[in-house]
Amino acid sequence: MDLLVSELFYSIQGETTRSGFPSFFIRLAGCNLNCAWCDTVYARTGGRRMAMERILDAVTKHPHADHITITGGEPLCQEGTIGLMRRLCASRRIRLETNGSRDLSEVPVEVVKIVDVKTPSSGEEGSFLMENLAFLAERDELKFVIADRADYDFARTFVKKHLAKPGPVINLSPVRGVMDPAELARLILADGHGLRLNMQLHTVLWPEGEPKK
Ligand code: SF4
Repeated sequence: MDLLVSELFYSIQGETTRSGFPSFFIRLAGCNLNCAWCDTVYARTGGRRMAMERILDAVTKHPHADHITITGGEPLCQEGTIGLMRRLCASRRIRLETNGSRDLSEVPVEVVKIVDVKTPSSGEEGSFLMENLAFLAERDELKFVIADRADYDFARTFVKKHLAKPGPVINLSPVRGVMDPAELARLILADGHGLRLNMQLHTVLWPEGEPKK
């Protein structure tokens, strides 16, 4: 089975609760959404076709990675992604980053899912597949990208309405250069609801762009 790959690289995980740990990234190409704040536009299209065995070989060259991140684009747009995760999770910790619009029912239970809920400012509000709530465990994580107060209120309402406690980790990510992180922190401190401020560590480490090898 072949997959369309945008890039493979070893770096520091910049987001969510494993932020700061070394990770090997498998960025798959292609996406079904068109978000206003997309920071991986290059991965929405194109990519090079790679045999799954070659991807697995690349992973074995990075034994010190704390975990393997499968991201995109939208990884679940490709038929081979579930098979890739099944092969990898036998020996490695896997984290899947997905935009929330694709069915999660076939994702292996060992895989930690990082699932977006698109906010109003993204232009893709309503893309979240509500049936996916049934497949979220406590160790999984949701992510809301926040550009303004309306996005924050949307996230807070969604969490209160649809998520039981204890439930998945709720990450709120300020849009870089648009939402003041300190203002988002202030809102979280005032409100609580188990919300987590999710800063992008890689943009602090490498403001001019992450070196990838
Ligand atoms: S889902 Fe992700 S890759 Fe696709 S357009 Fe939105 S931010 Fe970009």
